[in-house]
Amino acid sequence: MLAIFLICNRCSQKPYAATNKSYKKQAKAYGKILAQYPVQDSVINGPYWIGTTNFNLRKPNFIILHHTAQDSCGQTLKTFTIVKTAVSAHYVICKDGTIHHMLNDYLRAWQAGVSKWGNATDINSLSIGIEIDNNGFEPFPELQINSLLGLLDRLKKAYNIPVANFIGHADIAPGRKVDPNKYFPWQKLAENGFGYWYDTTGVQIPPDFNAMSALRIIGYDIKKPEAAIQSFKLHFVQQDSTKIINEDDKRILVDLVKKYQ
Ligand SMILES: [Zn+2]
Repeated sequence: MLAIFLICNRCSQKPYAATNKSYKKQAKAYGKILAQYPVQDSVINGPYWIGTTNFNLRKPNFIILHHTAQDSCGQTLKTFTIVKTAVSAHYVICKDGTIHHMLNDYLRAWQAGVSKWGNATDINSLSIGIEIDNNGFEPFPELQINSLLGLLDRLKKAYNIPVANFIGHADIAPGRKVDPNKYFPWQKLAENGFGYWYDTTGVQIPPDFNAMSALRIIGYDIKKPEAAIQSFKLHFVQQDSTKIINEDDKRILVDLVKKYQ
């Protein structure tokens, strides 16, 4: 009886003690792989292995932003600490601005899924995933966005992430994902150096302009044209949910192409 009481008392105080232990064990196992030489499948002739003296860790080069599509931060933390969900992110940002760090930036989270941006396909291997607590249909509180901006600033400096490489889940998975939702302040992010925004003042549309080529140059997977347009609008023309490129959109694309290419 006393034992049960002690265990339950401990689990209410530290609800993630068990998953933290599991994290430590997994990280240790991956640490062992990093120390291996030669790596199992690289060179069969062991004696020819010569370790170089000059190396460091690979760095993330993209930031992928998500909304959680869940009802609370607590629900998301739980989702990311249950093995069978097989999803995770490096960071979770709650509505009150609290940032939970869930995975070392150098390790690979399971957040992007099947995705493509430019010629990059294994986005999980290239990126840091940030989940923002939001049910998918609501605006993002200022406290939450301020925390996000602070985090992005730190990550951009730490890993030298290019301005163009701050993108959304919907951008890299057209037709499959719609996050972050249309209330996400992409323009504010761009004003702070995370992603680009456009200025169509005086922009002329060239006679041979091809909107789908422009989307492809920016990075979109245009295999399903309507899905690519939908993702583009969710990011850059948020008040318009149509899947049609009009003259205003073309002017936006002409300007964006110059920035992203
Ligand atoms: Zn997502």
